[in-house]
Amino acid sequence: MTNHAATAGGSSPDLVVATPRGLYCPPGDFYIDPWRPVERAVITHAHADHARRGHAHYLAHADAAPVLRARLGADIALQTLGYGEPVSVGGVQVSLHPAGHVLGSAQVRLAHRGAVWVASGDYKLDPDPTCAPFEPVRCNVFITESTFGLPIYRWPDSATLFGELNRWWAAAADAGRPAVLYAYAFGKAQRVLAGVDPSIGPLVCHGAVQALNAAYRAQGVALPPTWRVTDAGLDAAGLRRALVIAPPSAAGSPWLRRFGAHTDAFASGWMQVRGARRRRGVDRGWVLSDHADWPGLQRAIAATGASRVIVTHGSVDTLVRWLREHGLQADRFSTEYGGDDDDDDGLAGAATADAPPGPGADLPDAASSEPAR
Ligand SMILES: [Zn+2]
Ligand SMILES: [Zn+2]
Repeated sequence: MTNHAATAGGSSPDLVVATPRGLYCPPGDFYIDPWRPVERAVITHAHADHARRGHAHYLAHADAAPVLRARLGADIALQTLGYGEPVSVGGVQVSLHPAGHVLGSAQVRLAHRGAVWVASGDYKLDPDPTCAPFEPVRCNVFITESTFGLPIYRWPDSATLFGELNRWWAAAADAGRPAVLYAYAFGKAQRVLAGVDPSIGPLVCHGAVQALNAAYRAQGVALPPTWRVTDAGLDAAGLRRALVIAPPSAAGSPWLRRFGAHTDAFASGWMQVRGARRRRGVDRGWVLSDHADWPGLQRAIAATGASRVIVTHGSVDTLVRWLREHGLQADRFSTEYGGDDDDDDGLAGAATADAPPGPGADLPDAASSEPAR
């Protein structure tokens, strides 16, 4: 019970405070996505920067369980909930609500003595058939991420994007070359699988991606058939028409070299920034993110009706300033999120350094499409 900074007007004590171990709920005596080992952890989703080892008790959405157990140990003490199912933790009513980020991702709603707080974890508003869509939750205080909290980030319509991606793949297949797409293994890869046209050719997945595909299928998410490169039945002619989905770490690996001459691309929100594709050394960059873009952050925040917003990671200062300019009480929590997230591919720093517009500035619409090569 360290920090009881009162909200504006000196009403009720804060339901969540920042501590060196993580975001802490004093009345409930538990943490949300803590980065140091704690007794009780509520986990928003199974990305490594939010779900860490060493907690005595975990609480998460049921759909996150297989990935959590695979990553943190089959024997973790894990209690699961469905979306909207309330549970009392130390007298605080806790429930989980879809965040639209990855399979099993949740916003955490806390209700205590008339106050309602929501911690978003990571989220997106764009359609994604592989997880439950983001659900706005009314609250007094909203704790939000800001991974892409700069005005330059505006995602293309995903139907348009997948149409272009399919054409890129089909052109490579017709030229007899595999198309290699680098995408984070958990979340992004499955969203790509669900969005592409499997009639173009076989979908070949790196082992790291295939393991996550299995977790998705086990939770009832429909994905098209996928192959391992070593599968019997995948012949040389098939390989030349393949879309190969691999984590960014597979670039330049012996595993990748077996595909020979190929075209390649990278799928990430960072691809919106000029120069990002070139730095990755790939032929194409697809602007595809599992986080909210700038308008999405604003829409999500407005939909909560919150009068106070606390920003955890990403472009924190820009979003805090924007919120204050728009009449909201806004603060920041310093956290250790963002270290191993789906869109944290090492380009975050470069993107910031490379982005010429200062906070509040904007780029013309042309910036939202892939620069001509
Ligand atoms: Zn994150
Ligand atoms: Zn995440």
